[in-house]
Amino acid sequence: MAQPGIPAARGAAAGLQAQNGAASAAGSPYTNGPVQNTLMSSSQGYDSQLPGSYPRPMPAKTLNPFSAQSNYGGSQGSGQTLNRPLVASSPLPPSLQSGPVPQMPLPTSRNPAATPMPSGSFLPGANPPPPLNWQYNYPSTGPQTNHFPHVAQPTLSGNTNLTADHQYVSSGDPALQTSFIKPGSTLPLQNPPLPTTFQPGAPPGPPPAGGPPPQKTPPKAALPPPFNSTVTQEGITSHANNGSVVAHSTYDEIEGGGFLATPQLINQNPKTSRSVGYAYPSLPPGYQNTAPPSVAGMPPSSLNYPSGPQAFAQTPLGANHLTSSMSGLSLHPEGQRVVNLLQERNMLPSTPLQPPVPNLHEDIQKLNCNPELFRCTLTSIPQTQALLNKAKLPLGLLLHPFKDLVQLPVVTSSTIVRCRSCRTYINPFVNFLDQRRWKCNLCYRVNDVPEEFMYNPLTRVYGEPHRRPEVQNATIEFMAPSEYMLRPPQPPVYLFVFDVSHNAIETGYLNSVCQSLLDNLDLLPGNTRTKVGFMTFDSTIHFYSLQEGLSQPQMLIVSDIDDVFIPMPENLLVNLNESKELVQELLKSLPQMFTKTLETQSALGPALQAAFKLMSPTGGRMSVFQTQLPTLGVGALKPREEPNQRSSAKEIHLTPSTDFYKKLALDCSGQQAAVDLFLLSGQYSDLASLGCISRYSAGSVYYYPSYHHQHNPVQVQKFQKELQRYLTRKIGFEAVMRIRCTKGLSIHTFHGNFFVRSTDLLSLPNVNPDAGYAVQMSVEENLADTQLVSFQSALLYTSSKGERRIRVHTLCLPVVSTLNEVFLGADVQAISGLLANMAVDRSVTASLSDARDALVNAVIDSLSAYRSSVLSSQQPGLMVPFSLRLFPLFVLALLKQKSFQTGTNARLDERIFAMCQVKNQPLVHLMLTTHPGLYRVDNLSDEGALNINDRTIPQPPILQLSVEKLSRDGAFLMDAGSVLMLWVGKNCAQNFLSQVLGVQNYASIPQMMTDLPELDTPESARTIAFISWLREQRPFFPILYVIREESPMKAAFLQNLVEDRTESALSYYEFLLHIQQQVNK
Ligand SMILES: [Zn+2]
Repeated sequence: MAQPGIPAARGAAAGLQAQNGAASAAGSPYTNGPVQNTLMSSSQGYDSQLPGSYPRPMPAKTLNPFSAQSNYGGSQGSGQTLNRPLVASSPLPPSLQSGPVPQMPLPTSRNPAATPMPSGSFLPGANPPPPLNWQYNYPSTGPQTNHFPHVAQPTLSGNTNLTADHQYVSSGDPALQTSFIKPGSTLPLQNPPLPTTFQPGAPPGPPPAGGPPPQKTPPKAALPPPFNSTVTQEGITSHANNGSVVAHSTYDEIEGGGFLATPQLINQNPKTSRSVGYAYPSLPPGYQNTAPPSVAGMPPSSLNYPSGPQAFAQTPLGANHLTSSMSGLSLHPEGQRVVNLLQERNMLPSTPLQPPVPNLHEDIQKLNCNPELFRCTLTSIPQTQALLNKAKLPLGLLLHPFKDLVQLPVVTSSTIVRCRSCRTYINPFVNFLDQRRWKCNLCYRVNDVPEEFMYNPLTRVYGEPHRRPEVQNATIEFMAPSEYMLRPPQPPVYLFVFDVSHNAIETGYLNSVCQSLLDNLDLLPGNTRTKVGFMTFDSTIHFYSLQEGLSQPQMLIVSDIDDVFIPMPENLLVNLNESKELVQELLKSLPQMFTKTLETQSALGPALQAAFKLMSPTGGRMSVFQTQLPTLGVGALKPREEPNQRSSAKEIHLTPSTDFYKKLALDCSGQQAAVDLFLLSGQYSDLASLGCISRYSAGSVYYYPSYHHQHNPVQVQKFQKELQRYLTRKIGFEAVMRIRCTKGLSIHTFHGNFFVRSTDLLSLPNVNPDAGYAVQMSVEENLADTQLVSFQSALLYTSSKGERRIRVHTLCLPVVSTLNEVFLGADVQAISGLLANMAVDRSVTASLSDARDALVNAVIDSLSAYRSSVLSSQQPGLMVPFSLRLFPLFVLALLKQKSFQTGTNARLDERIFAMCQVKNQPLVHLMLTTHPGLYRVDNLSDEGALNINDRTIPQPPILQLSVEKLSRDGAFLMDAGSVLMLWVGKNCAQNFLSQVLGVQNYASIPQMMTDLPELDTPESARTIAFISWLREQRPFFPILYVIREESPMKAAFLQNLVEDRTESALSYYEFLLHIQQQVNK
């Protein structure tokens, strides 16, 4: 069972209980950081290979250059194969880490896997079954989270080498960059130099005991002298005072742990912990600090909006941009009303549904995180778990942390200011007690403002810490100094692993990939350090030496798949710049090299093992292309799809049949390698098993069923477009992510592709801008003493340019005490998204029908709670709060989504892929896949159109997903996220046919039309503008299908009309009646 707190049903704890969360059990062999894993991996049965340490002498005669002509012995293995020489492993090189490796004490009570599970509530159906539900009511299990002593953390004092330099760069685009240079300082470091030496033993240690941190040398320039600190900071050095030098051995230590939350501190100031509504007087530079203002004099009214921003409302920097999409969304009076869904059947807004705006003071809200990046299922947080239980709504966060941003404030500063207790990054929602102290909004610890932070690089004024970009932007990126590194940032490494069996060659995919790589070679994110490598495999494994100076690539075949080894490891991953010509030559020859192959076997497992060995020294990204079920060596799989069971909700194989792929993924994760799987297969390939390789290594799965270069040109086009995005998008390496929340809340279950290291640290060997994550939360302590809670995600990664960076998002939400307020603030999209993630877990750990029941019960339970506890009079009908007016519709849409549908011929791999997508997609895409947008497009007009950069983009209203909304005389576009379908009615106006589709009449619409011609007509321009605009809003290019009566895609189009009845599924109205019946019981 993945979710602590969710009882296992029918003892179904087997299978994927290794869901990310549970796999992190303390003592698991996979909990080590990368450094230890270098040592550890041999215990996994793999020898570590570091550059230069390859122990095996190469038999010279076995290496044969291949030519484009021949020389390849085919998969028959005739010719040059390498047999493993009998050489003992060389001793492992010394670890990068010298000296003792401190371990982080981790009370087991913090481990979700160790959390006692409440029993009951999800009962097997013996008795008249009580409604299945997801039991959001986790009983408070005491101090299981957030409050535990911590070892020393890196301090605030930062990198001394950079002390004098501040730089503030605002942009992602160099053109937008502005540098702010402190007067008198040297030129800012545009890109801080990479550390040339690695000094594990000497991160800036914790400050000595008994006082504030040692003052840095005050910045040069004419700054005021350091003030005489009369501020006593009780407890500020209560930890980390043993004076010892602490070396970082894990990312966990670097990123910092959870709360220290010195109990006496919390207890001493229970009241002040939430206060601080006053503004300190804006003191002129050079003031001498006086005693902190007395808290006693505070006006009580200031408690409403206690955070800093009110007092220090200044010109926001990036905030304007970040919040622009939320403007005009304040809670409409309509938001208060109760809706009878049986009477008001069309509640779907005609414009895209916007996330609710948290009920916060506008000064706070305008600084809040963009909901596209970070949102919560409940924008009003219930004060207690009991209140949350009453609402029967799931509490959780949905994140899109590495989304491509047009504008991103980037801060380069020697001091990254973080809470000394809980390691929260300073953010717009902290409280400044005065100019020298700030109170953490997560643990309430009072912290010093470091000297450097007193200078504002934006305004070039001293004494304005609250105007610093860090305090003005809920989304910000820091250039991380060397203490945020376990080792020097690694170069970007891209390894491509190609299936070249007969089946693979038949599909013709290799041509597409190689061409795409040739086209995009110079666009791979990276720099002069970028390394690439290539492997191919069928029944044997083939390597390619691309060493600079060779006249052509050399192919090396390893036929021993039972005990794979790497020939010439130093020449297989090569510098792209230095070996570019060889790489290009290889990519040109590869598609031809295997055209005659008769080898049908697939040794995917051994090939992955070899690829893992090759990448172990550096980590990086492994892109694996597979076209069939692996048949040879470790990881071989057997077909287990039974077509006659496709339609049933029971007994289908959603769990992996072997743990080989998961284990290997965890090994990869330990070495900072992620595996992306491209599955191009017409046959069952057991994606449930194969997908684990990506899931736990933080990779992604891409699936192209029935890929064929001739028979399926549309799939080819889609593959090429997606490959281009894949190859050229931003990438982060060696990443970890931690999500923190205000004391009293706790995060317990994680969804997405990653591995949970040390309880709550997500290990992401790669992070990409298209990945989404979700977490579940519970309320551990009564939040009555606080008005606001905050959530902060911090993603520490190495950019493709070799910079260590930290991207931080902070979300602030109000706490409420009544059930009505909880309902009013419900975010129905986020709730549906989180439920979908939970339902995937439930499908795997229990069964598909359990998951479906749980989805339905989520609606019934919350609406019953609303009816019985909020509504004063019991009206007939199905009464729902306005915020949840689309809840039944979205859940019905989920039930009809490929992941959870029944009664269809959904192939198992397609279902599994849909589930992978649920787990790995950002919310906005998940919602489009689940509940597509439908527009009438044969009568587009400029009325209400958007104007962007001289383009006029029509905005037709969104229609309900029902065949009732279609008409034969029109044309309708359905936007299902990854695919666009244009349904053309039989009697569609001639004008549309000729002016937009460019055809004479309906009959001449081609059977497979996937492009609209660019005609010189206003109708064509409008239609193309609208479709392009939809496409621009998502990372992957959706293919457009033009559908007419006889089109094979028609069924897919109709299937997405979720309000309609199908053979096996209720219509929306029938579903509402069912819900009403259950609610009013
Ligand atoms: Zn804190």
